[in-house]
Amino acid sequence: MKHNLSQDLEKKFRSSAPGYWASKGVSEEEWNSHIWQLKNRITSLSGLEEHLVLSEEERNGVILSGSKLAMAITPHFFNLIDKEDPNCPIRRQVIPRVEETWEMDYEMSDPCGEDSHMPVPGLVHRYPDRVLFLVTDRCASYCRYCTRSRVVSGAGDQELDTDYEAAFRYLEEHTEVRDVLLSGGDPLLFSDAKLEKILVRLRSIEHIEFLRIGSRIPIFLPQRITPELCEMLQKYHPLFISVHTNHPRELTSEVKAGLERLANSGIPLGNQSVLIRDVNDDAEIMKSLVHKLLMCRVRPYYMYQMDLIKGSSHLQVPVAKGIEIIEKLRGHTTGYAVPQYVIDAPGGGGKIPVNPEYMVQRNDERVIVRNYEGRSFEYPEPAVSPDPILDY
Ligand SMILES: *Cc1c(COP(=O)(O)O)cnc(C)c1O
Repeated sequence: MKHNLSQDLEKKFRSSAPGYWASKGVSEEEWNSHIWQLKNRITSLSGLEEHLVLSEEERNGVILSGSKLAMAITPHFFNLIDKEDPNCPIRRQVIPRVEETWEMDYEMSDPCGEDSHMPVPGLVHRYPDRVLFLVTDRCASYCRYCTRSRVVSGAGDQELDTDYEAAFRYLEEHTEVRDVLLSGGDPLLFSDAKLEKILVRLRSIEHIEFLRIGSRIPIFLPQRITPELCEMLQKYHPLFISVHTNHPRELTSEVKAGLERLANSGIPLGNQSVLIRDVNDDAEIMKSLVHKLLMCRVRPYYMYQMDLIKGSSHLQVPVAKGIEIIEKLRGHTTGYAVPQYVIDAPGGGGKIPVNPEYMVQRNDERVIVRNYEGRSFEYPEPAVSPDPILDY
């Protein structure tokens, strides 16, 4: 995977300017319009082959993807593909491969057990005080390892079928819910007006303190992050946005500008990465990514072990690799740059943190811990003085 590595480690914010598309008659104005980008997504084999020479594995993957998870790639994101590199980390994320039809017996169509935690269609209530609200089944582009491929893109055999009214009523009745995470699909694919209606309704519920949106639109379609969208969103604070970036090359100058517009609207930004084989399963790549994220004012939030979604075996990375990456970040670079590595437990156990072992030994008297350089230190447990009242 060391193709173009030096460029990826440079930490430059390159432009995804029309370039090649301009030579096909696309104007700057069209390119900068998110409507044009959406209308001109690459969604078919012939469309893809107009721009790129495919391998047999990819060709067959594209043909077979029609009944699973659709292919869609915005011209913006497509422009980041290095056409000379068959293993390009951008290419691997969005172009189907025939390996997607391989299924391991431990792989699942609903790896996080969401369907069994839905009190209302489209609303996942797994944790005590927060819910995941799946507001749409569409994205600007489709990640080939999508954990929700069973319902996303309209190609699979299951439908999302979100019942908005029932979801709002559930939230009104469940006063323990103080945090609503809008996801999908990608909520920022909605028009400003449609998204605002949802936010207004949620803000009318007094016990909901905190709103967040999970979106890859700032990465796939930075043109959508308009000043008007930002102006609308900032009326509904506290509102956080979690973006999804996996590789430093995704952070272009356009993406950076969009993220800055969101940050300037007072929206704290986090990033969720998924560990993907031959994309970011390398400590140097990951370090370059998290540094670039901080330069875009995005705090790395989670690094996910890939869910055991059907047809993902060619993209899976061993947990040992994930631990090694965290070990090479923690202490070696800015604490803000280090995400929490998690496994979303198969079957619905939720996100579980996975950490390198820093505790060497622990008993009532002392703990022995090691630092990022491997040196051990003793921390004596403070003696607990007897309670003067209870201890007579
Ligand atoms: C990830 C997730 C959340 C949010 O989890 P945090 O750790 O608070 O970010 C909430 N509900 C569901 C079902 C989730 O999968």
